[in-house]
Amino acid sequence: MNKERCLLVISGPSGAGKDTVVKKMLEKHPEIEMSVSATTRAPREKEVNGVDYYFLPKEEFERRLAQGDVLEHVQYCDNYYGTLKSEIEQRMEKGVTTVLIIEVYGAANIKKIYPESTLIFVMPPNEEELARRLRSRGTESEEVIQQRLHRAKEELGRVGDYDFAVTNVDADVCAQEVYEILCSRQGR
Ligand code: 5GP
Repeated sequence: MNKERCLLVISGPSGAGKDTVVKKMLEKHPEIEMSVSATTRAPREKEVNGVDYYFLPKEEFERRLAQGDVLEHVQYCDNYYGTLKSEIEQRMEKGVTTVLIIEVYGAANIKKIYPESTLIFVMPPNEEELARRLRSRGTESEEVIQQRLHRAKEELGRVGDYDFAVTNVDADVCAQEVYEILCSRQGR
Protein backbone atom coordinates (compact mmCIF):
# COMPACT_ATOMS: atom_id res chain seq x y z
CA MET A 1 0.00 0.00 0.00
CA ASN A 2 1.17 3.53 -0.79
CA LYS A 3 2.19 5.08 2.56
CA GLU A 4 0.18 8.21 1.83
CA ARG A 5 -2.94 6.06 2.16
CA CYS A 6 -2.20 5.96 5.91
CA LEU A 7 -3.44 9.54 6.07
CA LEU A 8 -7.12 10.17 6.67
CA VAL A 9 -8.13 13.82 6.63
CA ILE A 10 -11.49 14.72 8.15
CA SER A 11 -13.10 18.13 7.75
CA GLY A 12 -16.52 19.59 8.25
CA PRO A 13 -17.97 22.78 9.62
CA SER A 14 -17.56 23.50 13.30
CA GLY A 15 -20.57 21.78 14.93
CA ALA A 16 -20.89 19.00 12.32
CA GLY A 17 -19.78 16.54 14.98
CA LYS A 18 -16.56 15.40 13.31
CA ASP A 19 -14.64 15.07 16.58
CA THR A 20 -17.33 12.76 18.01
CA VAL A 21 -17.36 10.67 14.84
CA VAL A 22 -13.58 10.23 14.93
CA LYS A 23 -13.60 9.51 18.66
CA LYS A 24 -16.11 6.72 18.11
CA MET A 25 -14.07 5.24 15.29
CA LEU A 26 -10.91 5.29 17.42
CA GLU A 27 -12.68 3.60 20.35
CA LYS A 28 -13.49 0.66 18.08
CA HIS A 29 -10.21 0.70 16.17
CA PRO A 30 -7.44 1.70 18.58
CA GLU A 31 -4.73 0.91 16.01
CA ILE A 32 -5.69 4.20 14.30
CA GLU A 33 -3.89 7.22 15.77
CA MET A 34 -4.70 10.92 15.89
CA SER A 35 -2.48 13.73 14.74
CA VAL A 36 -2.48 16.36 17.50
CA SER A 37 -2.42 19.84 15.96
CA ALA A 38 -0.82 22.96 17.34
CA THR A 39 -2.94 26.06 17.94
CA THR A 40 -2.73 29.50 19.47
CA ARG A 41 -6.39 29.38 20.57
CA ALA A 42 -7.06 29.20 24.31
CA PRO A 43 -7.94 25.73 25.66
CA ARG A 44 -11.62 25.08 26.27
CA GLU A 45 -12.69 23.61 29.57
CA LYS A 46 -11.63 19.93 29.72
CA GLU A 47 -9.14 20.27 26.85
CA VAL A 48 -5.71 18.92 27.69
CA ASN A 49 -2.43 20.18 26.29
CA GLY A 50 -0.75 17.51 24.17
CA VAL A 51 -3.99 15.50 23.89
CA ASP A 52 -6.53 17.81 22.25
CA TYR A 53 -3.97 20.25 20.89
CA TYR A 54 -0.52 21.57 21.60
CA PHE A 55 -1.57 24.98 22.92
CA LEU A 56 1.22 27.35 21.96
CA PRO A 57 1.74 31.08 22.45
CA LYS A 58 1.72 32.97 19.15
CA GLU A 59 5.50 33.61 19.26
CA GLU A 60 6.22 29.90 19.75
CA PHE A 61 3.91 28.96 16.87
CA GLU A 62 5.66 31.48 14.62
CA ARG A 63 9.05 30.14 15.69
CA ARG A 64 7.98 26.59 14.74
CA LEU A 65 6.73 27.88 11.39
CA ALA A 66 10.04 29.61 10.69
CA GLN A 67 11.94 26.44 11.64
CA GLY A 68 9.95 24.44 9.09
CA ASP A 69 8.34 22.17 11.71
CA VAL A 70 4.80 22.75 10.40
CA LEU A 71 3.43 20.75 7.46
CA GLU A 72 0.44 23.02 6.84
CA HIS A 73 -1.18 25.84 8.77
CA VAL A 74 -4.03 28.35 8.56
CA GLN A 75 -5.38 31.32 10.42
CA TYR A 76 -8.92 30.47 11.45
CA CYS A 77 -11.16 32.86 13.44
CA ASP A 78 -8.10 34.90 14.54
CA ASN A 79 -5.93 31.98 15.66
CA TYR A 80 -3.23 29.85 14.09
CA TYR A 81 -3.82 26.12 13.65
CA GLY A 82 -1.24 23.79 12.15
CA THR A 83 -0.17 20.19 11.60
CA LEU A 84 3.29 19.40 12.94
CA LYS A 85 5.52 17.28 10.71
CA SER A 86 6.49 15.27 13.78
CA GLU A 87 2.86 14.07 14.10
CA ILE A 88 2.76 12.70 10.56
CA GLU A 89 6.07 11.66 9.08
CA GLN A 90 7.16 8.92 11.50
CA ARG A 91 3.70 7.36 11.59
CA MET A 92 3.56 7.29 7.82
CA GLU A 93 6.98 5.63 7.69
CA LYS A 94 5.73 2.94 10.07
CA GLY A 95 2.48 2.50 8.15
CA VAL A 96 0.29 3.67 11.05
CA THR A 97 -3.09 5.02 9.95
CA THR A 98 -3.30 8.61 11.18
CA VAL A 99 -6.35 10.89 11.32
CA LEU A 100 -6.10 14.64 10.90
CA ILE A 101 -9.15 16.71 11.83
CA ILE A 102 -8.47 19.97 10.04
CA GLU A 103 -10.32 22.70 8.16
CA VAL A 104 -10.76 22.92 4.37
CA TYR A 105 -7.66 24.91 3.38
CA GLY A 106 -5.39 22.68 5.44
CA ALA A 107 -7.04 19.60 3.92
CA ALA A 108 -6.42 20.91 0.40
CA ASN A 109 -2.77 21.51 1.30
CA ILE A 110 -2.37 17.97 2.64
CA LYS A 111 -3.88 16.63 -0.59
CA LYS A 112 -1.32 18.64 -2.57
CA ILE A 113 1.56 17.27 -0.50
CA TYR A 114 0.16 13.71 -0.28
CA PRO A 115 -2.16 13.11 -3.25
CA GLU A 116 -2.97 9.56 -2.14
CA SER A 117 -4.31 10.66 1.26
CA THR A 118 -8.06 10.18 1.82
CA LEU A 119 -10.18 13.30 2.38
CA ILE A 120 -13.62 12.89 3.94
CA PHE A 121 -16.03 15.75 4.58
CA VAL A 122 -18.49 15.36 7.46
CA MET A 123 -21.75 17.22 6.76
CA PRO A 124 -24.27 18.29 9.38
CA PRO A 125 -27.85 17.05 8.70
CA ASN A 126 -28.89 20.68 8.01
CA GLU A 127 -28.03 24.29 8.87
CA GLU A 128 -30.45 24.59 11.81
CA GLU A 129 -28.96 21.52 13.45
CA LEU A 130 -25.48 22.94 12.95
CA ALA A 131 -26.40 26.19 14.74
CA ARG A 132 -28.12 24.24 17.49
CA ARG A 133 -25.07 22.02 18.07
CA LEU A 134 -22.72 25.01 18.14
CA ARG A 135 -24.85 26.80 20.74
CA SER A 136 -25.44 23.71 22.85
CA ARG A 137 -21.68 23.31 23.36
CA GLY A 138 -21.85 26.48 25.44
CA THR A 139 -18.12 27.04 25.04
CA GLU A 140 -18.13 30.03 22.67
CA SER A 141 -19.47 33.57 22.84
CA GLU A 142 -22.31 34.52 20.46
CA GLU A 143 -19.79 36.56 18.44
CA VAL A 144 -17.55 33.53 17.94
CA ILE A 145 -20.61 31.37 17.14
CA GLN A 146 -21.60 33.85 14.42
CA GLN A 147 -18.02 33.79 13.04
CA ARG A 148 -18.09 29.99 13.01
CA LEU A 149 -21.51 29.85 11.31
CA HIS A 150 -20.26 32.21 8.63
CA ARG A 151 -17.15 30.10 8.17
CA ALA A 152 -19.30 26.92 8.12
CA LYS A 153 -21.16 28.19 5.05
CA GLU A 154 -17.85 28.85 3.32
CA GLU A 155 -16.60 25.36 4.25
CA LEU A 156 -19.77 23.65 2.97
CA GLY A 157 -18.99 25.13 -0.43
CA ARG A 158 -15.70 23.21 -0.53
CA VAL A 159 -17.20 19.74 -0.25
CA GLY A 160 -16.32 19.10 -3.91
CA ASP A 161 -12.59 19.06 -3.00
CA TYR A 162 -13.09 15.89 -0.96
CA ASP A 163 -12.84 12.25 -2.00
CA PHE A 164 -15.98 11.42 0.00
CA ALA A 165 -18.76 13.18 1.95
CA VAL A 166 -20.74 11.61 4.80
CA THR A 167 -23.70 13.07 6.69
CA ASN A 168 -23.58 12.88 10.46
CA VAL A 169 -27.13 12.10 11.57
CA ASP A 170 -26.01 9.40 14.00
CA ALA A 171 -22.35 9.50 15.07
CA ASP A 172 -22.02 5.68 15.43
CA VAL A 173 -23.35 5.07 11.94
CA CYS A 174 -21.20 7.84 10.54
CA ALA A 175 -18.06 6.48 12.26
CA GLN A 176 -18.69 3.07 10.69
CA GLU A 177 -19.15 4.67 7.28
CA VAL A 178 -15.83 6.53 7.62
CA TYR A 179 -14.08 3.33 8.69
CA GLU A 180 -15.43 1.41 5.71
CA ILE A 181 -14.25 4.10 3.31
CA LEU A 182 -10.80 3.95 4.90
CA CYS A 183 -10.66 0.15 4.61
CA SER A 184 -11.64 0.22 0.96
CA ARG A 185 -9.00 2.90 0.21
CA GLN A 186 -6.39 0.81 1.97
CA GLY A 187 -7.47 -2.35 0.14
CA ARG A 188 -8.53 -4.15 3.32
P1 5GP B 1 -11.54 24.29 17.03
O1 5GP B 1 -11.15 25.67 17.51
O2 5GP B 1 -13.04 24.13 16.96
O3 5GP B 1 -10.88 23.20 17.83
O4 5GP B 1 -10.99 24.14 15.54
C1 5GP B 1 -11.33 25.08 14.55
C2 5GP B 1 -11.05 24.49 13.18
O5 5GP B 1 -9.65 24.33 12.99
C3 5GP B 1 -11.66 23.11 12.99
O6 5GP B 1 -12.25 23.05 11.69
C4 5GP B 1 -10.47 22.20 13.09
O7 5GP B 1 -10.68 21.01 12.37
C5 5GP B 1 -9.40 23.06 12.44
N1 5GP B 1 -8.05 22.62 12.75
C6 5GP B 1 -7.60 22.03 13.88
N2 5GP B 1 -6.32 21.74 13.77
C7 5GP B 1 -5.92 22.14 12.54
C8 5GP B 1 -4.67 22.07 11.81
O8 5GP B 1 -3.66 21.58 12.27
N3 5GP B 1 -4.67 22.58 10.57
C9 5GP B 1 -5.76 23.13 9.99
N4 5GP B 1 -5.65 23.57 8.74
N5 5GP B 1 -6.95 23.20 10.64
C10 5GP B 1 -7.02 22.71 11.89
